[in-house]
Amino acid sequence: MIDLKKLQKEVMRNKVEKGFNLTDTALEFCRAHEELSEAFSKFNKGKDGVAEEFADVMIFILGMCENMGFDLEKELVRKIKINKNRKYKKGKSPDGKDIFIRIKTKLDP
Ligand SMILES: [Mg+2]
Repeated sequence: MIDLKKLQKEVMRNKVEKGFNLTDTALEFCRAHEELSEAFSKFNKGKDGVAEEFADVMIFILGMCENMGFDLEKELVRKIKINKNRKYKKGKSPDGKDIFIRIKTKLDP
């Protein structure tokens, strides 16, 4: 299994070495979003380059996690477990489409 904490540190090491942004968190969110938009743009033409843009998104997220002291691997495992245990009911959107509505619980409000 990949060690995301190790990747977080590697991403941060590269950012420091290259002199990339370390202090403007809002910019990092924008750059991650920009990379996701690039992935979508490429996806609209096919699959070429989409995975690389996803990697760019992850690199920004890994960097932000390291900068903010988050353990992304731990958070991913925790959140995937929460999502796995979530219950949904079928419903209708205002325009009549079938949708899933999450059933909120005390443990997962
Ligand atoms: Mg890119």
